[in-house]
Amino acid sequence: MKKIILVICDGLGDRPSANLNGKTPLQAARKPNIDRLASASMLGLIYTISPGVTPGSDTSHLSLLGYDPKRYYTGRGPLEAIGAGLKLREGDIAFRCNFATVDHDGIVIDRRAGRIKEPDTGKLASIISEMRIDGHTVFFKESTEHRCVLVVRGEGLGANVTDTDPGVEGKGILKASGRDAVSQRTAEIVNTFTDMAMKKLAEADLNRERERKGLKPANAILARGAGEYPKIEPFFEKRGMRMGGIVAEGLIVGICRVLGAEVSVPAGFTAGMDMDVSGVAKEAERMLSSVDFLLIHIKPTDVAGHDGNAKGKMEVLERIDDMIGRIAEIEGTVLALTGDHSTPVSAREHTCDPVPLLIHSRGLRSDGISSFDEISCSRGSLSGLRGLDITPLLMGYADRNEKDGA
Ligand code: ZN
Ligand code: ZN
Repeated sequence: MKKIILVICDGLGDRPSANLNGKTPLQAARKPNIDRLASASMLGLIYTISPGVTPGSDTSHLSLLGYDPKRYYTGRGPLEAIGAGLKLREGDIAFRCNFATVDHDGIVIDRRAGRIKEPDTGKLASIISEMRIDGHTVFFKESTEHRCVLVVRGEGLGANVTDTDPGVEGKGILKASGRDAVSQRTAEIVNTFTDMAMKKLAEADLNRERERKGLKPANAILARGAGEYPKIEPFFEKRGMRMGGIVAEGLIVGICRVLGAEVSVPAGFTAGMDMDVSGVAKEAERMLSSVDFLLIHIKPTDVAGHDGNAKGKMEVLERIDDMIGRIAEIEGTVLALTGDHSTPVSAREHTCDPVPLLIHSRGLRSDGISSFDEISCSRGSLSGLRGLDITPLLMGYADRNEKDGA
């Protein structure tokens, strides 16, 4: 039996870019290790959910990890909340939130409160971290950058709740409402929390200090993406493999924790353009002594895509080339490299374009294609597979499947 390493570059797939002489960032990147690996691998273009579907990062990661998002996905709120470090229980309703700035009339003037971040977000969150409202408990915690999370716990709650986040600046905070009786109860608790949080944040010394420094105060909380705590079989129970993750981004950390995976973040390994991957290969080797399936998530490919930054996306790919080369040398493994969806720099958003996939292990076939990019991979033998096929396929190549029949 072999161990499995799945490297997912967020938003990996792309389209021809005018800034790169009509090449995609993958085509334009200097990546000798990845291309050498490609020539000894099976390749393809895959649909991480299904053709014509534009995937979110959460649904596509679930799919690539072998969990049908149609069955298991209950919204982004609970995954973000778990990723931020809150312990959720069955029946909890979670929201993803922003710290925001409102003016004296309650109009949202900055949905990100001047891009507030740690340590200010942690200090402000501690003021409103736990409240009792109408017999229920509300938990609140800071997440990455200006983001934060809200969890409502108690009997008889529902997740069919509208957002309080108006989604744009220049409008007031919306009143949450429920689409059924239990969800209406949740909505009322969220509205009360929103009012109480505004009062407490307005009195916070830190906000006055921010104003003195010419920074925007974080004096309001905007909530969206309500979801119920998902009932998901842990990865080990479903697949018989201990799972680990080298993951920095809150949402994907949340997915790992929901699946019962051990998560590690090597020094300097961030979810931003400043990501340092120099410690990742060594940490992968260390984790593989205790886990059977290791997810490595590279976020800034998606960040560069959303920013329309073709050169930046190309540079991120060049930065991970050496890391992939070292990971490929770890003995006794099946290595897969793919994306969760395409985030073309020309679109600045996720699109339905399929993503390249590479599968390598000593002794397996190769497709005789010597470059890993969207165009070359279209000729590969793995083309047309879907996200849900990937984990079972990797298990097959790792000799971890069961024979079908006699
Ligand atoms: Zn993504
Ligand atoms: Zn994205």
